[in-house]
Amino acid sequence: MLTILHTESSEGWGGQEIRSLLESKELIKRGHRAIVLMYHNIGIPPEDAEMRGLYVTPRMFGFQMWYLKVAGFRVVSLKEIVRFIKGESADKKLVAITFDDGYQDFYDNAYPVLRMYNYPSTVFIVSDMAGKENIWDSERLKVRKRLLDWDRILEMKDNGVVFGSHSKTHPSLVRSSAEELEDETRGSKTVIEERSNCPVEFFCYPYGDYDDRVLDAVGQAGYLAAVTTKRGYVYRDDNPLEIRRISIKLTTHPLSFLYKLHFNSKTQDGLKVCIS
Ligand SMILES: [Zn+2]
Repeated sequence: MLTILHTESSEGWGGQEIRSLLESKELIKRGHRAIVLMYHNIGIPPEDAEMRGLYVTPRMFGFQMWYLKVAGFRVVSLKEIVRFIKGESADKKLVAITFDDGYQDFYDNAYPVLRMYNYPSTVFIVSDMAGKENIWDSERLKVRKRLLDWDRILEMKDNGVVFGSHSKTHPSLVRSSAEELEDETRGSKTVIEERSNCPVEFFCYPYGDYDDRVLDAVGQAGYLAAVTTKRGYVYRDDNPLEIRRISIKLTTHPLSFLYKLHFNSKTQDGLKVCIS
């Protein structure tokens, strides 16, 4: 086991972390927290793509979904996570699955697996970009990725996929004017609701960027909750507009995935076995 783990160089996995895990007497205390997983692409990254960590291979994604089932986690909607935050749900093994940006590969590689397990999920789409490409970061990533079109979105919203807003154009909202901020938050909500004929209750901050002004705008726009890129579990009485997530990447080794689910640190800093 250690041999396998020592080959894993990502996500801070190393000898110290392994020893911390194996030597811990306080292995699993699962109460009073829930988990929101964050994915971007489900696919094989192109050779020259930057930030390949944004991908998870279909094979690994299949393993991860299988593991959630065999380990007894209950995969729920983000709405159920909000109920947990408010103290309206006492279940202790809740996991919600989220996908940022709304790539076509979600439809090709994730959706069939999610349907097989009957897992709900939330996909955050950039409303002005549906059916187009990731022009907001395609130069930086050196890859143009297709985004879900409205036909696909409409098909999936009838089959367990909830669509949230990831703004209209994927700007950094902390640098947006008041008018832009309103349009990117409330405006994108309106667009998706009109196209899908479904309420849009969840928001995802582009680049994970937000401040008090952005939080206020998202709340004023009528979202029930919003997800961040801050790492960590979800606890009762958290701010529903600042939901932390556990990021799953290309480099997430199967044992690292287990670690994230069962032992991951509460905070972004360093590694601590959760003893909550
Ligand atoms: Zn994004």
